[in-house]
Amino acid sequence: MAKVNEYFKKLPGSYLFADIAKKTAAYAAEHPDAKLIKMGIGDVTRPLAPAVIEAMHKAVDDMSKVETFHGYGPEQGYDFLRQAIVDHDYKARGVDLDIDEVFVSDGAKSDTGNIGDILSVDNKVAVCDPVYPVYVDTNVMAGRAGEYDPKTQRWSNIYYMPTTAENNFNPDLPTEPVDVIYLCSPNNPTGTTLDREQLTKWVNYANEHDAIIMFDAAYECFIQDPDQPHSIFEIPGAKTCAIEFRSFSKKAGFTGARCGYTVIPKDLVRDGQSLNAMWLRRQTTKFNGASYIIERGAEAVYTPEGNKQIEETLDYYRHNARVIKEGLESVGFDVYGAVSSPYIWCKTPNGMGSWDFFDLLLRQANIITTPGAGFGPSGEGYIRITAFGDADATEEAVERIKKMQF
Ligand code: PLP
Repeated sequence: MAKVNEYFKKLPGSYLFADIAKKTAAYAAEHPDAKLIKMGIGDVTRPLAPAVIEAMHKAVDDMSKVETFHGYGPEQGYDFLRQAIVDHDYKARGVDLDIDEVFVSDGAKSDTGNIGDILSVDNKVAVCDPVYPVYVDTNVMAGRAGEYDPKTQRWSNIYYMPTTAENNFNPDLPTEPVDVIYLCSPNNPTGTTLDREQLTKWVNYANEHDAIIMFDAAYECFIQDPDQPHSIFEIPGAKTCAIEFRSFSKKAGFTGARCGYTVIPKDLVRDGQSLNAMWLRRQTTKFNGASYIIERGAEAVYTPEGNKQIEETLDYYRHNARVIKEGLESVGFDVYGAVSSPYIWCKTPNGMGSWDFFDLLLRQANIITTPGAGFGPSGEGYIRITAFGDADATEEAVERIKKMQF
């Protein structure tokens, strides 16, 4: 008899955004005239940059002719894109990478989820709490998480690092040995960042303990402070202990086009094995490369025109984030993130539970947010609001919240 992966049975029932969709649909059915404003899911809304569209059109034309047609591409990505990444995202910030250290993919969700393929089931994993759920759930699927306790909402074999206003969103180093540490900066969901000193603390820890840092920089394009590192490889020593994940999704609106990349330095060795060589083996076995058309589009992000256009779109979202932050602060909310992030992490009023505040905002202001508790127990007492929406709708939402009574 075929047996299924038993660890899937351990996963708690439904996914956060499915619960939100269910509650929202029920409310909309009861109130068909309600003008709902969506500020929940972190999806972008602005179109791709004209330079990207033009490059994609040209790539489609390439596919129409025998001489320029592209079939299977390199599993690690085309050199034209890997070179652009190395030059613009790293060399320009003082980090030297070899293009063989860059693996292009269909996005950071796949890579952060799949990276566990090259790790032993015996690793102790540490995550921030609250956390992007993919890190936890994929470790559950791989059998690394132990048992789930519905009371504490925690897995027995995962080490949780509370990341809250109380510790200034700067988690403490683990007090017991851990092997794999997921860090995300700018953070989803809190919108906060780790600075150079804080990242150095983690790099030193990982090197001292032979641990690996999984550094998710999907939102690095939102960093405003020029001194803030965009890559963990700007920290001395990171090449021997870190893997970095990046995405074109938020940077250039590729959530529907799908493109991202992962950097695994050749100096990263554990158990005598090169993680770079293992990931290459994994990708060439299980992945057939991102599409030529999409990779040409991603390459155009790095042209002067493309860069200018994506920055205009990012400014649109940055403006929304500012409007939300300032609006909420003006009526007394404690608000975090929003500066180097499209996410606003807002403390609920009067100690209200995050699902209760979600319901209140839905019913009184017709605004859909994301309850912080959905990202982990330490997210309780917060909600996440995204700045990826329409600018007028964002202003309208803030006005509606300002009129609410708490
Ligand atoms: N990492 C984080 C922290 C995210 O919030 C997201 C998407 O919301 C991703 C990765 C996924 O990015 P991609 O669209 O490249 O799969």
